[in-house]
Amino acid sequence: MKYVTEYRDAASVGAVVDEIRRTLTKSWTLMEICGGQTHAIVRYGIDQLLPPEIELVHGPGCPVCVTPLELLDRALAIASLPDVIFCSYGDMLRVPGSGRDLFSVKAQGGDVRIVYSPLDAVELAQANPDKQVVFFAIGFETTAPANVMSVLHARTLGLTNYSVLVSHVRVPPAMDTILSSPACRVQGFLLAGHVCSVMGYHEYPELLNRYQIPMAVTGFEPLDIVRGVLAAVTMLEHGDVEIVNAYSRAVTFEGNSEAQAAIQRVFEVCDRKWRGIGVIPLSGWRLRPEFAAFDAELRFDVRSITAEESPDCVAGKVLQGLYKPQDCAAFGSTCTPEHPLGATMVSSEGACAAYYRDGRVTIHA
Ligand code: SF4
Repeated sequence: MKYVTEYRDAASVGAVVDEIRRTLTKSWTLMEICGGQTHAIVRYGIDQLLPPEIELVHGPGCPVCVTPLELLDRALAIASLPDVIFCSYGDMLRVPGSGRDLFSVKAQGGDVRIVYSPLDAVELAQANPDKQVVFFAIGFETTAPANVMSVLHARTLGLTNYSVLVSHVRVPPAMDTILSSPACRVQGFLLAGHVCSVMGYHEYPELLNRYQIPMAVTGFEPLDIVRGVLAAVTMLEHGDVEIVNAYSRAVTFEGNSEAQAAIQRVFEVCDRKWRGIGVIPLSGWRLRPEFAAFDAELRFDVRSITAEESPDCVAGKVLQGLYKPQDCAAFGSTCTPEHPLGATMVSSEGACAAYYRDGRVTIHA
């Protein structure tokens, strides 16, 4: 398959790893931001292929994992209402809220549906004018264009029975939080290629200058990842502090200006709570006041629902690269994909799920 097969070629990956080995003179700790990259790293054993001097720690870039517990509880409350069709990506259905998940709401008779695009939810609203259709609009910058397009499309169609439950987060403020922590060990970043394909990387020089930390825009296939690692290691070894685009087949400095304009039209920046981490200033998007009619939190008056995280789940530390999944006492014992305590054990982009699926299980006494 063009643009896939050649990026999974073992000889090409091995050649880049050899170059990394030749470049290295000391140990470095890199963080990949995106959960999709974490899964590729674990699935292809890239962390085990790299020289031991390179430690990869996993970042907060899993949208399901960082959706705050209280927003999940609000989703559960809305999905339980009669005459509501609650639409979500499949990953969210097994993520535990305070007491249950969307699957259990569905089992108890709630109309919860898995969709593959918010536009599918808009079609459902057109086809079911006597129902309220709600889309759980979670994600990073990557999914924002499709979510805002669904709102614009619903408005064009004159739909009054479509709304979105928004939990959108932005990468740069999360990196700022990670870097400002006294416990931060990260010396270089692999930036999330798909986020940068939408937003470009013009937002990152400010962080680069403030923290003096090199960054490499990185894709998702094995060859993309080791190229990103090589770019970061080369900068670190030479003392260069730059942003190198190691994913130039998909990313430009400016990004997709039309997508950015659509996001700006519908969303405004806000403070946002991240599951396990807490509130990060200016780290989210919410609907602008002129789109309030599409805001599910207002329509169903669920903003008073709040929730406290379980103290047993240390996913917040995993998401900030401070712990590896095996460092959690519950990993593989009281927390498994069948009985998850936290979202990072359920999501297809969660670090705990990646380690568990790969069999990297240490049962704690
Ligand atoms: S293993 Fe389970 S309890 Fe531990 S951090 Fe991961 S999701 Fe949370």
